Amino acid sequence: MSEFQGGGKPSGGSSKSKRKSATGTSQESLTHKGDSRQSCASVATLRAAVYGAAVGDALGVPYEFRGRESFTCVTMDEGGTHEMPRGTFSDDTSLLLATCDSIRATGRIDVDDMQKRFRQWLYKGKYTSDGRVFDVGNTVATALDRGRGCTGEYSNGNGSLMRIAPLAFTKATDEEIESVSAITHAHSISKSACVAFVHILREVAFSRSDLLSAIENNVPADEAFEAMRNLKDMPREEVSSGGYVVDTLCAALWCALHTESYADCVLEAVNLGRDTDTTACVAGALAGVMYGYDAIPKEWIEALRGKKVIESCLFD
Ligand SMILES: [Mg+2]
Repeated sequence: MSEFQGGGKPSGGSSKSKRKSATGTSQESLTHKGDSRQSCASVATLRAAVYGAAVGDALGVPYEFRGRESFTCVTMDEGGTHEMPRGTFSDDTSLLLATCDSIRATGRIDVDDMQKRFRQWLYKGKYTSDGRVFDVGNTVATALDRGRGCTGEYSNGNGSLMRIAPLAFTKATDEEIESVSAITHAHSISKSACVAFVHILREVAFSRSDLLSAIENNVPADEAFEAMRNLKDMPREEVSSGGYVVDTLCAALWCALHTESYADCVLEAVNLGRDTDTTACVAGALAGVMYGYDAIPKEWIEALRGKKVIESCLFD
């Protein structure tokens, strides 16, 4: 992720975000202690989402912070600001894997356990491909250091959206999704973005909704998300691809709407520039769900580092 610097992007931040519930899960109790995992029918789709996210992240790492049109990504490459070897995923995937591993180990949504695992990543290099932690956002580092999420209007970077996809494969309520975002990103805009993305993933994966309908069904009421209503007709030059959570959500959805394969979706996400790894990680999770694991180019899966870690974190 690249650190979101504000720049007046958040609007309506003090207003309470509301969203349409497509599944009716928002009224479910938070207090259940039973198994919150989805049925085993979703295992293959979870795998596609996780690998889709990791491959997108690794494709974007060498180009993070680069301006649009200053490069063209066509395949998995090495280098970039962090000078990482080819196929290396970053913080986005590590935190997504920590989320997965927590669900696998506890069988439920346990924010204390997730926070513990996020700290194991940050301080001990767990959930990385080689023990190295790089590309840590300020909001994530601050929240994990002090033990509570950041609530400021300018703490709406994409650091919780990038790791939220596994919750689509659980029965997590909207309140639980928000609580998982709030481990690091506790502002209503970040929480609403996470709830919307989880519902979109669920609709595409399990309700067989077309993507456009899934998006239209899940635009949060907060005016900050207004751009989500116009993605179908939005020209590429109007798509923002920085670190603001709403920009990342809209950019990822735009890429999925305007391409017809996993590869084209994640390459477009990277080639939008700026927060390349996170946009492609979010877009990759969605495209993985849309097109399936087998649609991810084998060459990219082979190049991906840390597959043992990924496999150890998947839940069923
Ligand atoms: Mg990253």
